[in-house]
Amino acid sequence: MQDISRAKSAELYEKSKTYFPGGVNSPVRAFKSVYGTPLFIQKGDGPYIWDADGNQFIDFCASWGPLILGHNNAKIREKVTEVMQNGMSFGAPTALENELAELIIKNNRFVEKIRFTSSGTEAVMSAIRLARGYTGRNKIIKFEGCYHGHSDSLLVKAGSGLVTFGETSSAGVPKAFADETIVIGLNDKQAVTEAFAQFKDDVAAVIIEGIPANNGLLLQDKEYVEFLSETCTANGALLIFDEVITGFRVGFEGAAAYYGITPDIVTYGKIIGGGLPVGMYGASNQIMAHISPDGGVYQAGTLSGNPVAMAAGIAALSILSQPNFYEELNAKAQAFVNDLKAYIADKGYELKIFTVGSIFWFAFTNKDIKTAEDIDPASMEKFKIMHRELLNRGIYFGPSGYEVGFVSAAHTSVELDKAKQAIFEALDIVFAK
Ligand SMILES: *Cc1c(COP(=O)(O)O)cnc(C)c1O
Repeated sequence: MQDISRAKSAELYEKSKTYFPGGVNSPVRAFKSVYGTPLFIQKGDGPYIWDADGNQFIDFCASWGPLILGHNNAKIREKVTEVMQNGMSFGAPTALENELAELIIKNNRFVEKIRFTSSGTEAVMSAIRLARGYTGRNKIIKFEGCYHGHSDSLLVKAGSGLVTFGETSSAGVPKAFADETIVIGLNDKQAVTEAFAQFKDDVAAVIIEGIPANNGLLLQDKEYVEFLSETCTANGALLIFDEVITGFRVGFEGAAAYYGITPDIVTYGKIIGGGLPVGMYGASNQIMAHISPDGGVYQAGTLSGNPVAMAAGIAALSILSQPNFYEELNAKAQAFVNDLKAYIADKGYELKIFTVGSIFWFAFTNKDIKTAEDIDPASMEKFKIMHRELLNRGIYFGPSGYEVGFVSAAHTSVELDKAKQAIFEALDIVFAK
């Protein structure tokens, strides 16, 4: 099959490279691990996006997660347009913040008080500061394979050994910061026990993605997450669920409700803003009392709780909080994934699909995958071929084999059937001898 025409995108990319490092404003957009150069997107509607060359794609990237209702949702667009007529930022409270907070707190058993931020990174960074301020301790335990945004103390990867101080995974992060972050493997109770034994009185928090979904989909056993919760409680440390990707995705109450486990602090982002920049962290009244101006943990934001962003969140969450929204979405997504699995099994392809709710991930392996270490980097060559073949067939996935795909409420059987057919064809090419 001939490659689709990407001349206009290529031209825009030549320009953008002169303005931005790598031509992009966030690195994973740069198509470094797939064929070709980035598609420049002109518009989106429902399950579709169109690039600058006029190519139409069924989109499973969903802006990396936020667009659970698909592109250009009419209810969100109307609410945003209405609110914008009254001005776009005041740096003073508005009723819209109360409205979005009420939608969240009334429908969520895991937060009593919240604070809005403008990104997921900011939410997590603030949650970490809160945990440190609340416990009076310094160290954070994080897991290899979990992404928590790009703040200094979280841009850290595992060193060698079971329990190690992190090594910075980015230039520009002082070693002293990384020394406060202990990085261990997922699905390993022994490492958790050992980390607490070594640093007992100085562990402020354990942070985990509710369901790790930023480095493949690394599904953890409920029993393991329960163990984390119990270990934190026993040691006077806080458990932070970073639900920036899973919050409002696997269900309105995210992974906490999925497991039935109560974290001490929760962070949200992505879906919460309906496609505009919103993040949030929340906890019990008692813990949140430590946030400024009530308490001594300082955290602020000029555009936090921005009215236009709040409007988008209100419109989105009003739809998501309706009965059966998640039952229907998840059933649709699971039927789609089951058909893909049946085809793969029938052909005997070396490929597994890991999935939860409306999230799915292609892993080119026959092994079970629970940790970052389980992923064979060489398998990404196969994703690369699949990605090219899918683009040529009008299907858009995030440009990295470590990224998950999302089914949205806007995907109908028409798009899902078309996508299935395209995926079958792409896989036949990937596995052609
Ligand atoms: C996306 C993501 C972040 C970072 O959010 P940004 O809005 O990109 O800053 C943090 N944690 C998790 C789990 C995420 O998926």
